[in-house]
Formats: sequence, C-alpha cells, structure tokens
Amino acid sequence: MRSRRIIGTALATVLGALAGVPAAAPALAAPGNPGEPRYTAGAPSAGDPYFPDQGNGGYDVRHYDIALSYDPATRYMDATTTITAAATQDMDAFDLDFRGPDVTSLTVNGHKASFTRTGQELVVSPRPKLKAGQTFTVVASYAGTPPVITDPDGSIEGWVPTDDGAFVPGEPQGAPAWFPGDDHPTDKATFTFHVTVPDGVTAVGNGRLVSKTTTGGRTTFVWDQAEPMATYLATVTLGTFTVAESVTPGGIPVYTAVDPRLVTQSAAAVARIPDILEYFTSIFGPYPFGSAGAIVDRAPDVGYALESQTKPIFSSAPSVGTMAHELAHQWYGDAVSPARWSDIWLNEGFATYATWLWTEHTGGATAQQTFASSSNYGRAATSSFWQVVTADPGPEDMFGNVPYNRGAMTLHALRGKIGDAVFFKLIKDWVAGHRYGNASTAEFVDAAQKASGMDLTAFFDVWLYQKGKPASW
Ligand SMILES: [Zn+2]
Repeated sequence: MRSRRIIGTALATVLGALAGVPAAAPALAAPGNPGEPRYTAGAPSAGDPYFPDQGNGGYDVRHYDIALSYDPATRYMDATTTITAAATQDMDAFDLDFRGPDVTSLTVNGHKASFTRTGQELVVSPRPKLKAGQTFTVVASYAGTPPVITDPDGSIEGWVPTDDGAFVPGEPQGAPAWFPGDDHPTDKATFTFHVTVPDGVTAVGNGRLVSKTTTGGRTTFVWDQAEPMATYLATVTLGTFTVAESVTPGGIPVYTAVDPRLVTQSAAAVARIPDILEYFTSIFGPYPFGSAGAIVDRAPDVGYALESQTKPIFSSAPSVGTMAHELAHQWYGDAVSPARWSDIWLNEGFATYATWLWTEHTGGATAQQTFASSSNYGRAATSSFWQVVTADPGPEDMFGNVPYNRGAMTLHALRGKIGDAVFFKLIKDWVAGHRYGNASTAEFVDAAQKASGMDLTAFFDVWLYQKGKPASW
C-alpha cells in the first residue's frame, strides 16, 4: 500500500513537471532538422521509488561550492551555492532538489535564469539553452531559515537547530534543506564549503580544513571534500566544540569536534578512532579518503548517528560500537554507495557486520556468537522481524532492524558458505571495484558468485529476497 501511494506520487510529479515546461512540447511534437539540437527538459526524478522526487536527469554534477553564513541566535542563513555540472542532453530546463529558504537570485553561465518552485523541485530554464556535453555553472543565492525535514519513519534530518548551533544530517533526504542539487546517491560530486559563523562557533564540514579566517567578529571555515561524495553525506554541523587533531599510524589526519558537555562520555569512543580505522583497513582495504574524524554533538531530538563522509556525526556521546559502525560506513556506504535506496542493506548490513568483527577482534563475542544470539538468528521464527525483505525493506523500514541485522546475518552466512578466504577477498574487492561510485544488490550477488564459482541463487533468495526465517541455505 505504501509503495503504491509513492509510485502514484512519482507519476504525478513527472506529469506535473512536464506540464509545467511548455518548451518541451514542440520538441516532442515536431522533429527538427537532422543535426539540430532538440531541447527538452531534464527528468525531474532519478526514478527511485522510495523517494520519487529525489534526483534529476539531464545533467551530472561535478562540484558543489557552498558558501553560507549562519547565526545560531536568529537561525538565519544567507547562502550562495555554485554548482558545476555537465549536461547529458540538449536541455531547455532542468530540476534541482531544494527545500531551503527563498531563492533571491539564480544564474546559469552568468545569465539570469527564470525558475519556479514546486515541492522540492526548483525548475530552472537556462537561456541560452544547454547542449549535451556542455559544462555549465549554476549560481543560486538564498536566504532565510532552512527547514527540518521529517522522514517516512518519523525521524528528523536536514538543518536541525541545537542550543548552540545546528546539527546537519542528510540521509536520506536532508541535503536539499540547505543546498540545491541533484539529491540522489548516484550523482556524486566533490564539495567545497565556506561557512561563516559568529566567533566562538566552530563549523565542521566534510574533508579537510583548508582555512579558518576571522574578521569583524565572524569566522569563516573553509572545508574541502576532494573525493566524490553523495549529497546525503554532506554536513556542516556547527556549534561550540572542543577540537582535537591527530594522525593515524597509517598517516590519515583525524579531526574530531566534541560538544564540551560530552567530552568525558565520548572519550573512550573518540580515542579508539585510529585503532578502528587500522583494523578496518586490514580487512576492508585502504581507508578510502584523505581525512577522517568525528563530530559529537548534543542534538537530543535527532537521536541517531550518521556516517557523513570523513566526519560521522553523533547526536549524543557514542559507544565504541557505534563509532565502529559509522567508521565502517566510510568503506560501505560512503566510498561505495547504494544504487537505489532499496539496496540500503549494502550500507547497514556491512556496517553492522563490521561491528561484529570489531567486537570479536577486541576480545568480545565472536561473530558466530553474535549471529546466533537472541537479537539475530536466535529470534523465533514467528517474530515479525522475519517479515521484512532485506533487499527491499521499504522507506519506513529502511533504517529498521532488518537491513542492519538480517543484512549482517546474510554476510555471516555467506562467509560460512563460501569460506573465509573467498569472503574477505570479495568484500575487499567490492570496495576497490566500486570506490567513489554506486553498486546494487544484484551486482553484489553477481560478484559473490564469480568470486566463489558457486551458484548462490537459492542462498541469496532466502536471505535477501524472501520473507521468513531462513531454515537452510
Ligand atoms: Zn549505519
């Protein structure tokens, strides 16, 4: 029922957007001369049924440059986002995903462009029109209060004010709260952030801190994320923070920002970051980014942590296990992101399994013991837990137990089936082969079959695609 409603919304969105772009009609009705560009509107959706308004067609974003100032006292943002993209079709209109405040000006390649806003679609009509292959630059300025976004499971994300700043998580649909873009994991880009805040406030973005400049009572932090990143992994969480910088034994710089009220409670987890990264590097392959770290904030209304790229964010003091989970996502989720949101177990199952491995590595329960426990395979066959499909949990259950725990169980069962040597090579090669891109469940099934030389159709069918507690595999 939920799926049908969402698909209906997607169709309405597509039809509505086409109806709103009259310039598309002549191109569809009358073919032009051979070789003459036929300009049409880029698609208003990436076609992902979980979030049908997300993403757009007609272009590929290469870089976001986001310059914003924010005053925690007034919750007022003044921002300019510059998007560098390449057109993938001859195009007279395209959509950006944006739920932020009033757009005060918008240009494409330096020319003022007309635009309309409907829901999260910011529909831009560039003139001159864009040709396939052409690189173009969109400059959008906007000002006001960015919104908090509520997800299908009731949790909040986007731009969440805290008592000393803002907590900024973006999964799965929060990024358009504070910058316009192509908000689907399949369109990765590099990012630069220039965040200006009152003196005393620290703004922490993805990647490396390039500069920190203070003038007239305000400080601008410039952060650069040099490796491609999905929009949902972007953050500029800001507030009062105790900052520490170090370098892992492997040479990765680590930047941690912790709310001063949480320094004591989070000390154990923060201190283990280098050890966790070294251990995961030994089993998953090289750490995929040029920097690492963590942001521990006090955002009691959020109540979860998120694997924002290079800087996982925690809304309260994390346990060592939660820290390990979010750091594992740097390989599984961030470097390799889901092709569709239904593939979310490729993020959460791997991060959960990584934590089982970390627990065993540090002298706790073995992965086999965790697999067999009452919160995993030990659940009764009659439990409702077994009634959600791992590889298609639906938008309301995508962050429920199943993609996490049944996902991890799937990996442990696979390891038993194909053996340690093949399994650990498979999951390492998975990152190396898809790093900075996306991958699907079908691709993982295919990779596992190729790596093992086994027909695993029945195995993956019972673990990933069927409801019910697997009885044999
Ligand atoms: Zn996770």
